[in-house]
Parts: sequence; structure tokens; C-alpha cells
Amino acid sequence: MIGSWFEVIKDFKFEPEETRLGGWNPKEGPHVNLSSVGFKGKDEKEAIEMISDTLLHEGSHAAFHHITNKTMLKNYKLICVELNEIIASILQDEMDKAELNEEEVMEAIKTLASHDFLDELFAGRSQKSSPGATRLWLEKYHHQNTKVFKNVLESHVEDTKKRLYNIDVGIPLLNMMLQGKVDAAIEIVHEQFLPPIIQYYHVYFENMMMKLVVKEQKMGISDEYISILRKVVAQGKWERLQEFLDKDKDEL
Ligand SMILES: [Zn+2]
Repeated sequence: MIGSWFEVIKDFKFEPEETRLGGWNPKEGPHVNLSSVGFKGKDEKEAIEMISDTLLHEGSHAAFHHITNKTMLKNYKLICVELNEIIASILQDEMDKAELNEEEVMEAIKTLASHDFLDELFAGRSQKSSPGATRLWLEKYHHQNTKVFKNVLESHVEDTKKRLYNIDVGIPLLNMMLQGKVDAAIEIVHEQFLPPIIQYYHVYFENMMMKLVVKEQKMGISDEYISILRKVVAQGKWERLQEFLDKDKDEL
């Protein structure tokens, strides 16, 4: 039975019955979800171990974010700007110009997916048990991370919609017409442009994960393997991860 200290510092930030043991965000840093069902039935020693493991894991995410934040913002921004340009083209009745710069967007997605993948991989390594890419696969990180990626882009599109809704041209009827047009443009983006972007992220992430699971089985989670992955992060050359995965030789 876990002692009373546990009840006192119980964290109510999470939904009841949530399985997540912890999380982190740039404002508050790493935190533990002491109300997680994962703690149910654990004795004090086990709970303390889980808490310290969770803090190491979430702390690693925070540290990773600290080094790579700029790259991430840059790539998310690129996709968001592309989406805004599409919305602008639709609003100006220039549907023919409503096109994604596919090459640029794909590069940005690859960078974001590789980053998110390594972020999770290293966070897992900071814990006592560090099963590598297999953990990501078993815990379905391709779905989890795609959900986060999707949320970021969808909330960007919704923010743009709100901004456009607030434009007041001074004539109520024109405002109404403009809002109708905004609704249509946002719907086109949700239906036509977001799904392939999200799908690409998902497929790219899953593909990397499967390849790395195979690689780990071949070479084990050796120091050499970890140093290769560290190099990718340290150099900020995310595309090299895919290069490493595609090579038969275990080098970069
Ligand atoms: Zn994590």
C-alpha cells in the first residue's frame, strides 16, 4: 500500500483513469501523473521506481526539446505557411493556385517525423529498462505521434479560421459572405490538404520504426548503434537517420 504522501501530492491535472504515467510541456516541465491507473496496486518501492523512471523519461523529452526546438518550429512553420497560402488562394477564387509545395512539405514532414522518433527513442533510453525501437512499436508510437502531429496542424487551421472570422469589413452582409467563404476554404483544407500530409507523417514514422526494429535485432542496442543515432541528433541532420536505416552496413 502506498503511503499517505502519495495522496497528498497526487496530481489532478490528468483525466481520471488515464494510463499515462507522466508528461511534459515547455511551460511546466516534466510532471508525473500520480492518479494514473498504472500506479494502482503498486507498493511504495515500486511506485518510487516508477516515478523516478517517469521523471527521467519526461526530463529527457524536455532536454531534447531544448536542443531541437528551433528546427521543429521552423518545419512546423513551413507547413503552416503552406496551408495559409492555400486558404488565401481559395479565398481569392484562385483554386488553381491552391497547391502544396510538395517537395518542401515532404522534407519538413520527414524532419519532424525523424525528430519525434529519436526524441521518443532517447527518452526511452533514459529509463532503467530501455528496449529501443521495439518499445515504440509495442506502444504504438506511430499512432500516438501522428495524433500529436495532426492536432498541431488542425489547431493551426482552426486558429486561422478564427482570425479570418474576426475580420470586420464594416458591412454586416459582407461579413457574413466572407465568413461563408472562410468556412468553405477551411473545409477544403480539412478534406483535401490535411489528410495526405498526416498520412505521409504516419507512414514515414511507421516505416522508420519497423526498419529500426529489424536493425536492432541484427546489431543489438550496442554503443556503436547509439552513437550513430546521437550523431544524427547532434548534427541536426535528421535525414541521415533514413540513410542509416537504408544501409546494410551499420555505419553512418
Ligand atoms: Zn515519451
